[in-house]
Amino acid sequence: MLQDRWKKSAKSIGALAAAATFLATSAFGEAPPVQEPSSQEDIKAALTGGVPMGRWKEGLTFEGISPQPWLQSAANWFPRTEDVQPNEMRIIFMGSAPFIRPGQMNTAILVELGNGKIFMFDIGEGSPANIIASGYALNEITDVFITHLHVDHFGGLPYLWMFGTWAGGWHEQLTVHGPSGRTKEYGTATMVEGMKMMTGWHRDAFSVFPVGKGWDIEVNEFDFRDNGGVIYDEDGVKVTHWQRSHAKDGASGYRMDWNGMCFIWTGDGRPNMIDIPFAKGCDVFVTEQQQEIIEISSGVQGVPPFLGRYTVDTHHTPSYAAGYIANLVQPRLLMNTHMSYDPYQIEETVAEIREHWKGPYHFGAPDGIVVNVTKDQIWVREGILPDYPNSRAPQFDFSNGQLIVPKPPHRREDIQEPYVRDMEIDPKLYYPEGYHPELLTEWPVDDDLVVPLDALPENLKESMGAAWRNREANRKVLEEQGDN
Ligand SMILES: [Zn+2]
Ligand SMILES: [Zn+2]
Repeated sequence: MLQDRWKKSAKSIGALAAAATFLATSAFGEAPPVQEPSSQEDIKAALTGGVPMGRWKEGLTFEGISPQPWLQSAANWFPRTEDVQPNEMRIIFMGSAPFIRPGQMNTAILVELGNGKIFMFDIGEGSPANIIASGYALNEITDVFITHLHVDHFGGLPYLWMFGTWAGGWHEQLTVHGPSGRTKEYGTATMVEGMKMMTGWHRDAFSVFPVGKGWDIEVNEFDFRDNGGVIYDEDGVKVTHWQRSHAKDGASGYRMDWNGMCFIWTGDGRPNMIDIPFAKGCDVFVTEQQQEIIEISSGVQGVPPFLGRYTVDTHHTPSYAAGYIANLVQPRLLMNTHMSYDPYQIEETVAEIREHWKGPYHFGAPDGIVVNVTKDQIWVREGILPDYPNSRAPQFDFSNGQLIVPKPPHRREDIQEPYVRDMEIDPKLYYPEGYHPELLTEWPVDDDLVVPLDALPENLKESMGAAWRNREANRKVLEEQGDN
């Protein structure tokens, strides 16, 4: 029977189509018999029915709010399935709430650019879990911009620093950018000094591992009053700051500009006219906001109403005001984060925002919301972050043709008295008969370990050089664009 169909098809529509029919038949059962094509008019009428001019402006859809063609799914983002494109800015909410709870970590926003640079804007408690679940290696994060020193905005920093160093953060130190305080003791540099003290035991203990530049944390503290000051200006990326009204001096908002696109995270603060000139016309404007549902939320969240009201009126942006500001700023997309993502709040928030802002709008919550930004399109998706992800291998720049593993600063003997080590149970007593792994109780080399790439096993080269290869490919495209 197959043979019959083969002959018949080959006669009527030629060998190529016949081969396709044959394949379809063998793989999926029976393809329908070939028929005369419909007229051009009929085909056009059907395929453009309901969308007479290609993409039609329907209801409340907005120009330029649509999925880019390379996205694997228009609804969801799956970690490590899409490389950032040369002219793309990708924003991921790694934490989205002031109240930490299992479903929402404290505020943290990751921005990855097409030139390969990755920046954190705030790094709230718990957010490293989402950074890992999103498929980033902790040693890829080298610049953190902290809006202010409330712990829900920087609580994840010690973990990032300690374990980012352990996991390959050997060649580039972590830089923490943040505001000064009214006095020295309240500035970012003092916080980092305190963190150094707090992590003293940990750093000395982890110094039996390769560390390199890992512990050389750098602080870029700027004068919080210097509104419009540029605190980062490298590889075409510029970050500016300005002060925000958040009950205490030393709260700042940030604007990042790159490749004709712009991202803003205001951090926390009261609605303020200082924001407007710095935020004007920015592509993605992210602010925090609080809804007028103090009584309900006090019942749900357990915050006494007077405490809730007072907190908002001294520290935060009412949702009505967020819409009001957006209308003055006119971003391509307004986003709100720093909220408990609960159904009773969501609808109220939209209603209040819409009082003044009629343009594109989306929540930067819950955790894992992903925003793909290009000059013509912006699209927001839910990221599907696994609860039990594996960590990405540490990422290295292999342009020197080598993997360099620095010599650990300490051996165990340097930081531990012999007694407890001598009392360790003889492995022969617990490993089963006939099984004894070769133990690595001493670091195996006396100097830096330098491995030429061609001596590195293929799987390590692949997994540890993936980000670098994508960055190099993208840079080539960006350079060629620059030359044109
Ligand atoms: Zn906060
Ligand atoms: Zn705050």
